[in-house]
Amino acid sequence: MTTDRTVSEPIAAAGGVTIATDIAIVGGGLAGSLAAAVLARAGHRVVLVDKRAVYPDEFRVEKIGGHQLEAFRRLGFIRGLESAACPYDRVLNIREGKVVDVSVGQAYGLSYADLVAMARSQLPDPSSLIVDEVTAISCSDDVQHLELASGRRVTARLIVLATGMSGVLGYKLGIRRRVLAAGHSVSFGFTIARRDGAPFDFKALTCYGERIADGVDYLSLFPIRAGMRANLFMFRDPADPIMRDLRRETEATVLRLLPGLQTYLGDFRVVDRIRNWVMDLSVVEGHLQPGVVLIGDAFQTNCPAAGTGVARLLVDVERLCIEYAPRWLMTPGMSREKISEFYADRDKIAADQQSLKMARFRQALTSRDDIGWDVRRRLHFLRRSITHRVDQMRPGWLAHVRSALRA
Ligand SMILES: Cc1cc2nc3c(=O)[nH]c(=O)nc-3n(C[C@H](O)[C@H](O)[C@H](O)COP(=O)(O)OP(=O)(O)OC[C@H]3O[C@@H](n4cnc5c(N)ncnc54)[C@H](O)[C@@H]3O)c2cc1C
Repeated sequence: MTTDRTVSEPIAAAGGVTIATDIAIVGGGLAGSLAAAVLARAGHRVVLVDKRAVYPDEFRVEKIGGHQLEAFRRLGFIRGLESAACPYDRVLNIREGKVVDVSVGQAYGLSYADLVAMARSQLPDPSSLIVDEVTAISCSDDVQHLELASGRRVTARLIVLATGMSGVLGYKLGIRRRVLAAGHSVSFGFTIARRDGAPFDFKALTCYGERIADGVDYLSLFPIRAGMRANLFMFRDPADPIMRDLRRETEATVLRLLPGLQTYLGDFRVVDRIRNWVMDLSVVEGHLQPGVVLIGDAFQTNCPAAGTGVARLLVDVERLCIEYAPRWLMTPGMSREKISEFYADRDKIAADQQSLKMARFRQALTSRDDIGWDVRRRLHFLRRSITHRVDQMRPGWLAHVRSALRA
C-alpha cells in the first residue's frame, strides 16, 4: 500500500493497468462532459470517467435558452446543441386561463440524455471516455490517484469531481454536503399528445399556478423530439397525496391544479412514463483541498423551477477550463492555493449565489401567503401583463426600453 500524509484513503499499489493523464474528470454528466471536451479540444491530456457508457433516460434539465445559449456558443457547443434539439422561439405565458405575456427568444428542447450525448460527442478522441466506476480517490499537492471498479487506476495532476448529486467520492475526501433546504421542490416530467393526433396550437407554453395552497409554481410545455414535453415544478410536501395523484392520474390532476390549461390543451394524454424528483438544496463543505476541484451539482444543487443549474455549471466549466486549469498545469504542483483561485472566482460565486437566491424567490412567490408576498405576487403578474399589452399596442416598445436601460 502507498501511504501519503495527505491521502485520505490509501490506494493499493500492486497490479492492474495505470492510466496517466494531466486531468482526470470523474462524472460524465453535462458538467463533466462539457469540461472534458473543452479541455481536450485545447490540447490537454484528459480522461473522463463515467460508470455508464450512455447517460440513462433520467429527468434533469430539458430546455436550454437565454444566457445559457451564449455560454454554449462561447464554449463551441452551439452547433451540436442545434443539431440535437428542437428549436422554439416563442413561449405563451398564461395564468388562470388568461395570457400574461409572450416570451420571445431562441430556446431548445431535448432530453438530458441527448444533451449529455451531444457534449460527449464533442470529445476529439472518444477513447478519452473510460466507462468505469471510480471507487477510491486520493489527492495531494502533487499526483492524484483514482481507483476504478475494474481494477484499473488513473493518475493525474488534477482531478475534477463532476459526480452530480452523488456525494460518495467527496465523502471519502472528507467533503460533506450541507443541506440548506430538504425537499425544497418537487418536479414532474412527462410527454403529452392530443388524443386526436393534431398538433397543439402553441409552440411552447408556460402555465403559472392559480392557488397558493396548491404549491404549483408553473408547468412548462415545450417541444422535444418525442413530442410535447411537460415539466411541472411545485413547492409542496413531497409526501402529500397529490404526488400520488399526479403519478397515477396525471391528466386529471394537472387540470385540477391548473384548470385554465384546459382550453389550451384540449383532450390530451400522457404518452410516456411520468418521472418525478424531490430536490434538496445543498452545498458542499470541506472542498478546498489540494489536487481536486468540484463542479456542477457536485458542488451545489439547484432548484429546478429556478432553472439555474445549467447556468451555474456553465460558469464552472468556463472559468475552470478556460482560465484556471490551463494556468495551474503550467507550474509544478496542485496546491490548495491554486485550487482556491477557482472557488474565489467572482463569476462563480455570483452564479452560485444567484442560484440560491432564485430558489428562495420562486418558492416564496409560489407559496408564501403573507400580505407582503401576496402584494408582490399580484404586482409581478400585473407588471408583466401591462408591459405585454403596451407592447402589443406599440410593437417594439419593450425592446426599445430594455436596450435604453442596458445602455
Ligand atoms: C428534475 C430536474 C429538473 C431540472 N431542470 C432544470 C432546468 O430546467 N434548468 C436548469 O438549468 N437546470 C435544471 N436542473 C438541474 C440540472 O439538470 C443539473 O444542474 C445538471 O444536470 C447537473 O449536471 P452534472 O453534470 O453536475 O451532474 P449529473 O448530470 O448528475 O452527472 C453526474 C455524473 O457522474 C457520474 N458518476 C457519479 N459517481 C461516479 C463514480 N463514482 N464513478 C463514475 N461516474 C460517476 C454519474 O454516472 C453521472 O453521469 C434540473 C434538475 C432536475 C433534477
